[in-house]
Amino acid sequence: MKDKNHLSKPSDPDTSGEIRVRFAPSPTGYLHLGGARTALYNWLFARHNRGIFILRIEDTDRERSESRFQQQIIEDLQWLGLTWDEGPFFQHARKNLYIQHIHTLIQNQKAYYCFCSPEELEKKKEEYALKHLPLHYDGQCRKIPPEDAIKRIKAGQTPSIRFRTPDNGKTELRDLIRKKILFDNREFDDFIIVRSDGEPTYNLTAVVDDALMGITHVIRGDDHLSNTPKQILLYQALGFRIPQFAHIPMIMGPDNTRLSKRHGADSVSQYRELGYLPSALINYLALLGWSYDDRQTLFPISELIKKFDLKKVNKKASIFAPQKLDWINGKYIRQLAEPEFISLSLPFLFKAGLLDKDTLKCPSPTTIRILLSMRERLKKFCDLPALTEFFFRDSIKLSEEAKQQIFSKKDNFSLLQELYEQLQKIPAFEEKTLEILFQDLIKKKGLKLGDVVHPVRAAITGKTSSPGIFLTMVLLSKDRVLKRLKTILQQFEVIHPD
Ligand code: GLU
Repeated sequence: MKDKNHLSKPSDPDTSGEIRVRFAPSPTGYLHLGGARTALYNWLFARHNRGIFILRIEDTDRERSESRFQQQIIEDLQWLGLTWDEGPFFQHARKNLYIQHIHTLIQNQKAYYCFCSPEELEKKKEEYALKHLPLHYDGQCRKIPPEDAIKRIKAGQTPSIRFRTPDNGKTELRDLIRKKILFDNREFDDFIIVRSDGEPTYNLTAVVDDALMGITHVIRGDDHLSNTPKQILLYQALGFRIPQFAHIPMIMGPDNTRLSKRHGADSVSQYRELGYLPSALINYLALLGWSYDDRQTLFPISELIKKFDLKKVNKKASIFAPQKLDWINGKYIRQLAEPEFISLSLPFLFKAGLLDKDTLKCPSPTTIRILLSMRERLKKFCDLPALTEFFFRDSIKLSEEAKQQIFSKKDNFSLLQELYEQLQKIPAFEEKTLEILFQDLIKKKGLKLGDVVHPVRAAITGKTSSPGIFLTMVLLSKDRVLKRLKTILQQFEVIHPD
């Protein structure tokens, strides 16, 4: 990543056939999954084609842009491994460039000053609405001679600047993902390219930057589809080469509405905090709108780079499926080397108050074995405290299912009683010896292994699932196992007094 400072100029537009793409987030919120997927598709497209991936921060909206969001977006992209080759470029530092191009548009009469006040515009809107007419600006200020406009500005008026949209004709968008779309230019009114406070607007800044940065492919969410014909008109008016466009369909929640906070975690940083691995999130996001052959699900990043192709991006919206993400994350968790798995796990236990600072720095062999015993079933690190707390806390709470497994059978009392007595006498509290003890017990009582394991597990963990019972017992220690069995036996006497 070339870490240029924010005032640096992008390199000259490249005409050598090099592919140049950009991710252009607005720092008005966190990087959400949709944004991360747009960044990923741009990045994969660049890496696949040995092109250039540019990061541009679209922070012209000074009121809504916040540096904490900007920082977080940059950190999240780095965490995901989506490194950029040029930038980050900041639009607020490039205002002079936009002004230059706005003047060119005014000089060529492709744009004009508009002195209509917000109140006048509001009134017109109401009149139009009453007459059921489209809410288009009526072009009133088109007629103002440029010299008059300058005089009014000198006299202190602060106009906005509007683009003079062609009165007729059509604008064609050949999208790389969807079919060709023809827009009737009469659909667009003379849209504002500079607000009356002097700030250039998104359509203008995006076009100037994309052109000056030599962007060859604009890959972005299809929520921008309505902006694209306006941008094409601006490219034409400024005499710029028009890039290729690829609009990626939206991501929907399971209820078929656009994915948002309502559906749970929606920002990359939240997923990071919940204990998802960047490799898993990347893999999942790649599949959320793209597929290779409808069969393969796990793609290491090198394979994604090799196989990613815009032609295989879905034309329909994708539905976010948290279970699939969890499944993929679990797969990647199991691929981690042991030390990495441990060091990623420990902070989650610490945060939940299950470990103290010293153990965090230097975990005991038992803590390590407890964590490793969970690896096979783990889907995300934030599940670890709930899965392991019975190992770390002195007392446990029985789940309803666990209570059911223990107390629904009266015979379990004598079974647990006998086990308790035998465990007291056991010479070594080891997996092998415990297994032999259990086998002898079921033979003697004519039971199946599950008949003993289920109530014992429920009694000593408070749950109906855990790692293998013998390993769980060893990791808990003889002392704790006996104490917990004793507590259960006492409860039995209360529940079944006869
Ligand atoms: N700043 C715009 C956004 O965050 C970028 C749109 C584009 O890629 O042109 O939606």
